Amino acid sequence: MCGIVGYVGGRKATPILLEGLHRLEYRGYDSAGIAVPHRSRLKVTKAAVRVGELRDLVGDGLPATSGIAHTRWATHGEPTDVNAHPQQDTSKRIAVVHNGILENADELRARLTADGVTFASDTDTEAIAHLVAAALDGAETLEQAVRTALQDVEGAYGIVVMDATRPGELVVARNGSPIVLGVGDGEMFVASDVAALVRYTQSVVYLDDGELATLTADDYRTSTLQARSTAKSPTTVDVDDTDFQLDGYDNFMHKEMHEQPDAIRRALLGRLDERFATARLGGINLDARALRAVRSVKFLGCGSAYYAGQIGANLVEELARLPADAEPASEFRYRNPVIDGDTLYVAVSQSGETADTLAAVRELQRKGGQVIGVVNVVGSAIARECGHGVLLHSGPEVSVASTKAVTSMSFSFALLALLLGRVRDLSVANGTRIVQGLATLPDLISDVLATEDEIAKVADRFRDARGMFFIGRVRCWPAAREGAQKLKEISYVHAEAYQASELKHGPLALIDETMPSVVLVPDDELLAKNIGTIEQIKARGGPVIAVTNAELPHGLVDAEIRVPHATRELDPILLTIPLQLFAYHLALRLGRDIDKPRNLAKSVTVE
Ligand code: GLU
Repeated sequence: MCGIVGYVGGRKATPILLEGLHRLEYRGYDSAGIAVPHRSRLKVTKAAVRVGELRDLVGDGLPATSGIAHTRWATHGEPTDVNAHPQQDTSKRIAVVHNGILENADELRARLTADGVTFASDTDTEAIAHLVAAALDGAETLEQAVRTALQDVEGAYGIVVMDATRPGELVVARNGSPIVLGVGDGEMFVASDVAALVRYTQSVVYLDDGELATLTADDYRTSTLQARSTAKSPTTVDVDDTDFQLDGYDNFMHKEMHEQPDAIRRALLGRLDERFATARLGGINLDARALRAVRSVKFLGCGSAYYAGQIGANLVEELARLPADAEPASEFRYRNPVIDGDTLYVAVSQSGETADTLAAVRELQRKGGQVIGVVNVVGSAIARECGHGVLLHSGPEVSVASTKAVTSMSFSFALLALLLGRVRDLSVANGTRIVQGLATLPDLISDVLATEDEIAKVADRFRDARGMFFIGRVRCWPAAREGAQKLKEISYVHAEAYQASELKHGPLALIDETMPSVVLVPDDELLAKNIGTIEQIKARGGPVIAVTNAELPHGLVDAEIRVPHATRELDPILLTIPLQLFAYHLALRLGRDIDKPRNLAKSVTVE
């Protein structure tokens, strides 16, 4: 899940490796380590410390011009110095850094122990080091030894292996955990995330599952686990180092919320067709006839991507009058789903590496389902596996709690809904209304962001609440779910989202003066119903915070968060923005670690 960095070239490796680890810190980790060759051995420094402290331990570093480094997120064994990576074999000739989880770790340990190996750590990873060391006997190359060792390994891994006797070479392999190579001029990099590389090179090669690579300063060679060559040319990533800097903001979540108008404008570029009042989504590779053949749409994602999918499903139903729904990909993959050939499946993931969503895609493909990917990270596993889809273009998202990527997802779904609508019964007039609504939404989002101070004051008033309801009706129900999710993720305050209509069927029992409700009240055909809901809550003494673009009766609510008028179908997208700011400011007041909420990771590449 966490971070890998490797370097081989002409420069001093230690500063490059430590800087790379620093760039990956946002993903959260519990320990860190580094290995560089020194006098025909490998010098390993590792401890349960932050990267900054590792830097102090390593000092100026050795003159080595290659090395590997890691930030660990423990799965096998406590976060201790000994369990930190790199892990080594008994002779200390081999060093391995590994992201992921080996499923047959116990079996491998038992077998190696029976062969006389003594394990130094509790990690699954150490088994790889011993297996590679054993396979060196009789192998001509390190790559061959790694390939042999991996035949015995089951589970998810991204690994980089070093051999003390071949300091100018790194062997890399991927199965279910991201690995990207960076191609420099007389130097090669490897990392688990482009964030660690973009400072040095924009030219990258993504490894596929079941692929291996050998890197030297001047060259890289890729092949499958079965030793079949897979010649790959580098692609250019359109992100650079500034995307990973705070630019004066206190944290990435704050920066990324404020990047939303620009991120959306980028996502809309060339995708709105005013002349035909429709959307252009070239990447999905479906012509008008294929689009007309779609009988229903299903969105699959996890967490916020799932809620965005629900917003998408509502939009598809409203604009295209096609049955649509959303389901957590994490559930879908395990329930032996019935796959319908006329359904368009949409797999949604910011990172494009979410293990549950990827597994759902594979299940779909195995059963002959038609699936497109909606992802932010170019070249990611889901993007490649689906072959076609929609890129979110939100730029790298560092904060664990997603904001701009989720907003961009909802936008992409609105475009898809518009496109599906316009090959069916959505009129030119209504299509034009949606096109214009989408085009003006970035400015409206800016307007909401400009009211941040007001929203912060509201958050401050409710900072002591132990729990909150987020209430939405029909099209705003998924937005309420996303609002509750944000509050839970970053403030650790319990929040539950409920349909306004369902409140009286049970949860109303929880309402009293200590339980505030955030109620989404768009100025739409259900306004009177929503006012009725608020009255029900008020009658039980519950404080109400309305997020609204309607005129509410004077004195009805305890606090109002105002948003501008949008095209009504697009209200849920706009109303999500103040909920992000609300959660953010409440968490800030509670002193939470905004970008790295406890127990969570940015891209969940394990089950
Ligand atoms: N499973 C390995 C361990 O616990 C690697 C965890 C990670 O991805 O950082 O050491």
